[in-house]
Amino acid sequence: MDLTLQNITHRYGDVAVLDDISLDIPAGQIVCIIGPSGCGKSTLLRLIGGLERADQGKILQLGEPPTGCLNPLTFVFQDFALLPWRDVAGNVSLVLEDHGLGQSKTDAIVADVLARTKLGDFRKALPRQLSGGMKQRVAIARALAVNPAVMLLDEPLSALDAQTRELLMEDLIALWTRAPFTGVYVTHNLAEAVRLGHRVVVLSRRPGRIREVIDIDLPLEDRHMNHPELEVHQARLWTLMKEEAAAADQELLHV
Ligand code: ADP
Ligand code: MG
Repeated sequence: MDLTLQNITHRYGDVAVLDDISLDIPAGQIVCIIGPSGCGKSTLLRLIGGLERADQGKILQLGEPPTGCLNPLTFVFQDFALLPWRDVAGNVSLVLEDHGLGQSKTDAIVADVLARTKLGDFRKALPRQLSGGMKQRVAIARALAVNPAVMLLDEPLSALDAQTRELLMEDLIALWTRAPFTGVYVTHNLAEAVRLGHRVVVLSRRPGRIREVIDIDLPLEDRHMNHPELEVHQARLWTLMKEEAAAADQELLHV
């Protein structure tokens, strides 16, 4: 299923947050969205996920969701959003309840996604017994369990230390390589954007407008830390982010 955003504009009261965002998100691709803090990235994900309705513009879902899809759009959040009283398997199976799957089918899906996220040995562990990286792998497993058409990831690695972030980026690439998923991946981390994005969309400061779209042709599985081609893209992103920060400083001078 492809997603198409057409001229999305949104405001909260007097505050214009997003201005005329148009974007195609083709099935099987990861689109990263970067931009300064407060530019409307999380708002855009919430609009795509249907948690809020855009003031203007359209979000179109084109084509069929994958077979076996229980929920077309799922979120992965920075703070993991796990239920502390449920074990790992229980946090994942939560999203399978109310679908009438039956116990053996539910167990099979849970076992499959926990194996894919390397959590098979931790199915009985409680969230408080897990590291941050493992907690986020549980949240990713939970998102994968519904076989979504599109995963909406909001700064999923931002609460993790640098090493764990690197490991999780490798895990996400391995997951995508085995079974390509469609992702909208919001981050303010430029290194993550160039590692994981088939396309990187740069938003301006608030109100978020699309400043630039960069396509990165290098296959995900060939991307590694400090890859020269990725460093070129990252340098370009950094230039754009610096321009936005400088313009924001100038605006402060004139208020
Ligand atoms: P980002 O994720 O890029 O940091 P957000 O989308 O969270 O930005 O927020 C964009 C702007 O909208 C911010 O100024 C924020 O304070 C404001 N905002 C976000 N959600 C709400 C809301 N529910 N009500 C009012 N203002 C909001
Ligand atoms: Mg945000």
